Amino acid sequence: MTEPLFRSDAYLRQTTARVLEAAPGRLVFDRTLFYPRGGGQPGDRGEITWAGGGQATITDTVYDADRKTIVHIPTEGAPSPPSGETVTLALDWTTRYRRMRAHTALHLLSVVLPYPVTGGSVGDGEGRLDFDSGEVAFEKAEIERKLNDLIAADAEVETRWISDEELEANSALVKTMMVKPPVGHGRVRLVSISGLDLQPCGGTHVLRTGEIGRATIKGIEKKGKLNRRVRIELEG
Ligand SMILES: [Zn+2]
Repeated sequence: MTEPLFRSDAYLRQTTARVLEAAPGRLVFDRTLFYPRGGGQPGDRGEITWAGGGQATITDTVYDADRKTIVHIPTEGAPSPPSGETVTLALDWTTRYRRMRAHTALHLLSVVLPYPVTGGSVGDGEGRLDFDSGEVAFEKAEIERKLNDLIAADAEVETRWISDEELEANSALVKTMMVKPPVGHGRVRLVSISGLDLQPCGGTHVLRTGEIGRATIKGIEKKGKLNRRVRIELEG
């Protein structure tokens, strides 16, 4: 099991950790700040270093089959640190921060367009959501204006935990589930955007919506008779 440090502090860029497992193409530490690929958000990239000048580039991060162990994938042929060694993990922060901004923007997009979300994906400063919206006409300029108003409100983004039972009793909270919260651990992580949005989410977010910056609606596509795909892009 890997302690997911990104869950309590998404702004952590560097940490030390102990090597639990080091095999070709597979590195496991006791804790990590690398977000594992899931629910539309890509796995983090970065670098690990250890004593004696050891260094390896991490190209992707994934969950193991148990969904509790986080596996870091190094570049092919990269040297492995010895098991038990203390290493320093450094995140590719530029990329991660752009994903955090895009991810939080998608929460706001789901406020502007309050329809069931059937899919989504987070990129570097861009993202998309698919809405089961029926025959509703989507006005690009209006969506863009509303989205930027919510960003400019600079609302606070907070996380808190509730029990699986509480979540079940409040099933209306399960609005998007773009990044599926880990259920079955007794508790679920809720992400609240002050006064605007509340939903279970296991992803990484910025602390205030103002950090997202200006957003543009890049496209609205028909994905079937009743489904619409909305793409956003952020400035910078
Ligand atoms: Zn989220």
